[in-house]
Amino acid sequence: MFENLQEKLSRVFKNLSGRGKITEKNVKDAVREVKLSLLEADVNYKVVKEFVDHVLQKALGEEVLKSLTPDQQFIKIVRDELIKIMGEKNEPLRLIHRPAPIMMVGLQGSGKTTTCAKLAKLLKKEGRNPLLVAADLYRPAAVDQLVKLGNQIGVNVVHDYNKSPVEIVKEGIQEAERTGKDVLIVDTAGRLHIDEDMMRELEEIKAILNPDEILLVVDAMMGQDAVNTAKVFDERLDLTGFVVTKMDGDARGGVILSIKYVTGKPVKFIGTSEKLDGLEPFHPDRIANRILGMGDVLSLIEKVERELDQEKMKKSAEKFLKAEFTLEDFKEQLQEMKKLGPLSSILEMLPGAPKVDVEMSEKELKKIEAIINSMTIEERRNPRIIDASRKRRIARGSGTTVQDVNKLLKSYEQMKVLMKRMKKGKFKIPFGF
Ligand code: GDP
Repeated sequence: MFENLQEKLSRVFKNLSGRGKITEKNVKDAVREVKLSLLEADVNYKVVKEFVDHVLQKALGEEVLKSLTPDQQFIKIVRDELIKIMGEKNEPLRLIHRPAPIMMVGLQGSGKTTTCAKLAKLLKKEGRNPLLVAADLYRPAAVDQLVKLGNQIGVNVVHDYNKSPVEIVKEGIQEAERTGKDVLIVDTAGRLHIDEDMMRELEEIKAILNPDEILLVVDAMMGQDAVNTAKVFDERLDLTGFVVTKMDGDARGGVILSIKYVTGKPVKFIGTSEKLDGLEPFHPDRIANRILGMGDVLSLIEKVERELDQEKMKKSAEKFLKAEFTLEDFKEQLQEMKKLGPLSSILEMLPGAPKVDVEMSEKELKKIEAIINSMTIEERRNPRIIDASRKRRIARGSGTTVQDVNKLLKSYEQMKVLMKRMKKGKFKIPFGF
């Protein structure tokens, strides 16, 4: 996410750091560099202009020039402005009616159908009881796709190929009322480009549905095209907000940094993976932190709380502290951790995370899992019984080598020493461990 922008900005900040005192010229140079970085990231030029004016105004003020840490002051100003153009704070869904209708709109390929299912999953996790409606009858596979996704997350999908979109929506409303659902998420038809037929169909659906939310799904990779699309949709439908998808790709940042300023409507969610749990509430401050390479620990914590079985994690921690943590527990932990998604996306959220070779680490983790899988329960609970012939068997079974097995067992032994020390209270966890 935003690698290029991040790299360029960090170079600007580096140039400012280490100077005892900075001059007006230094500030102006830095601001010019920030401007170029934003333009290269495909941020709308009006946004860039306003951004740069504000930063310059504040940065030339007394605080920065006279500050003992001018670079830090400058970063703070840039951060504050980034947050401001993205909309200051998270804007949650406003679900008023029961059922609360959410109308999802967007061009084909933006990720609209997938996002409907992701949103249903997220709301379900929050204790709501959603119903999906497949009213995208324009893209031939969209109905089947939504039905399949609905099955995966255990949410019913109202669909019927023989009815018109408007009829399906009416049926959806009745079904939601009949079955006591509290949210109704409607997937509508998109097109490759904006066209009059589509807009008319959407207006008709809007009139019947009277939605609490109309969210336009846009693809972050589309850059300013997406922002222009957003403007047109908003003018016709009076949107309540956006979902910006494919933030996990190599999008440059243009959409997320321009769309609120250009339309006045907030981004409510971002799509961060193809998987159904890849939808996160949008927090401008956290994204600003990611852009500035400061990580996003809060989102990571939320993700851990949302995805991982807290009971299991607590039990593991307790076992660890009592020095009872076995390889069986380790295996369970690895399985839990997988729910957080690829290692790369986790590391991205940690400030200053070491630049480890992610692919290598993923491979190592797979290896460890394969080795533990090849052990008997007895062996996992008491690795001491693993003699040379067992090691050979485990290596063969897991497609690894005896050295790999030895390495894992040695790490486990070291972990045990650590656990025992912690149990006796002799050991303090060093900062950052
Ligand atoms: P629709 O035509 O707008 O309904 O688009 P789909 O929901 O079929 O999505 C188009 C493609 O984008 C699919 O391959 C999705 O898996 C993918 N997609 C959707 N959201 C995301 C996202 O946040 N990240 C990534 N990497 N892919 C996504």
